[in-house]
Amino acid sequence: MTPFVRSTIARAPLPRNETVRDYAPGTRERAAIRATLSQIMSETSELPLVIDGVERRTGVLEAAVMPHRHQHVLGQAHLASVDDVNAAIDAATRVSADWSRWSWAQRAAVFLRAADLLSGPWRDRLNAATMLGQSKTIHQAEIDAAAELIDFWRFNVEFMLRIYREQPHSPEGTWNQVDYRPLEGFVFAVTPFNFTAIAGNLPSAPALMGNTVVWKPAATAKYSAHLVMQLLREAGLPDGVINLVYGDGAEIAKIALGHAELAGVHFTGSTTVFNSLLRTVGQNVDRYRGYPRIVGETGGKNFVLAHSSADVATLAAAILRGGYEYQGQKCSAASRIFIPASLWPTLKALLRDEIATIRVGDVADFSNFMGAVIDEKAWRKHMAVFEEVKASPRTKVIAGATGDKRTGYFVAPTLLETDNLESPLLREEYFGPIVTAFIYRDQDFEDIIQRIDRSCAYGLTGSIFSNDRRSIELASAGLRNAAGNFYINDKPTGAVVGQQPFGGGRMSGTNDKAGSVWNLIRWTSPRTLKETFVPPTDYRYPYQSELP
Ligand code: NAD
Repeated sequence: MTPFVRSTIARAPLPRNETVRDYAPGTRERAAIRATLSQIMSETSELPLVIDGVERRTGVLEAAVMPHRHQHVLGQAHLASVDDVNAAIDAATRVSADWSRWSWAQRAAVFLRAADLLSGPWRDRLNAATMLGQSKTIHQAEIDAAAELIDFWRFNVEFMLRIYREQPHSPEGTWNQVDYRPLEGFVFAVTPFNFTAIAGNLPSAPALMGNTVVWKPAATAKYSAHLVMQLLREAGLPDGVINLVYGDGAEIAKIALGHAELAGVHFTGSTTVFNSLLRTVGQNVDRYRGYPRIVGETGGKNFVLAHSSADVATLAAAILRGGYEYQGQKCSAASRIFIPASLWPTLKALLRDEIATIRVGDVADFSNFMGAVIDEKAWRKHMAVFEEVKASPRTKVIAGATGDKRTGYFVAPTLLETDNLESPLLREEYFGPIVTAFIYRDQDFEDIIQRIDRSCAYGLTGSIFSNDRRSIELASAGLRNAAGNFYINDKPTGAVVGQQPFGGGRMSGTNDKAGSVWNLIRWTSPRTLKETFVPPTDYRYPYQSELP
């Protein structure tokens, strides 16, 4: 028997963006987060797999450490074996028969409850876990693990309903309907380290639409993933709807992408990894029951273009926040800036002075603006870039280009200047606090627009800073395909769910705009129903009549 029968056209609560707390000195929220940080640091948690609602402890362990104090172990994750991954896929496939029949209101209720739990009793725990496990300051954790994830869960319900309301025309005598079915099979969600909100949204968006999911979080964000899973279970997510597996990405992907029941891939991470997933799906295409939906949001090399009319103080603040917040580890981080020669001397001096004031260190010390980069691999990559830069005659170090990994994986906020438009510094994603300036002659503004557009493979975010309307329109038109999120007099980071649907094209992804109707539509396979109330009883048409 279907468990949820109600005669109602339910109206979901209207979403609003979660208010961001500021954690100013003397506030209760500041005292509460401090207490939670101490609590989490005083324990070592076990991070089990969650398959079909059951916690599995495999005994094959991998530590979750704090990037800014890498000797400190927050938890030990149990890694999945091949059998565990298969069990997760089996659970997801089996449970889909039930979950896909739940009414939308019942599914929505799970995620709306999760949002309210996160807004209330879970907020400090998930913020603290994100601060410690991913080295985010309290502000960066709050806008991610609390505000953005709450927004995803609330707004996605509204977006789902917009899709469901999209119904065809029914002329007299017929009733046409579209039934928004979940996909057949399971969705494979593979999530990045840098946003707890993205990690939570990638498995839950398809689940909200009635799909079941196997979720593989990043190895460097295991602790927050564990808490998101616990929170969802407390919110009432039924067993087996989302199955959490820790382990090697390539190994798990091999099993999931080789499975006949693969219905979709929901990925956020680097372009290289996404390309390898796409290739594997292509190679396996004959195995699948249907064509899997592939959604991938990938890397970026985001630009800030300044016009000579730009306000220098505004520009500097945007570069500092856009380039260095969360150590430049946002897919949207500003990493190449194009500055007119007339502004550069003032801007350079201002940036150098301001960078000197940026404090880098333990995120539990609230005076720090930056924490550590995520792991030793990332740290080494940055050090290698700095060595090359120092050996390059065409690049100048204006600030930073140093690191220290004795306690944590710290990289100094770095500002470079190159006169080489072909430099990898203006093309490659380093995913760290490295901003490279290219200085153009003021009169070459239109030319530099073309060069920004053509000089790199990504197309995620970008900004124009200008007080001259014509130049804003020139940049907006000329850079139309260079960024999926384009900002005018604002930094290229900080998209808010429900306000700036996020994602880019080119090598930055499939641009399915996380947290929007365009993303959710990928997790449904519409079925059209036509009912004729009084069907014809004669096959003949009037034109066949013998009469003249
Ligand atoms: P990553 O590509 O290293 O890892 C992403 C996920 O893929 C992780 O879960 C990882 O374990 C898994 N993985 C790694 N190798 C794999 C393989 N061979 N097969 C299958 N899975 C594999 O990315 P990351 O370092 O976690 O995140 C940073 C990247 O994510 C950056 O490139 C950034 O630009 C991008 N990102 C993009 C967006 C966006 O919306 N466009 C948002 C956040 C992050």
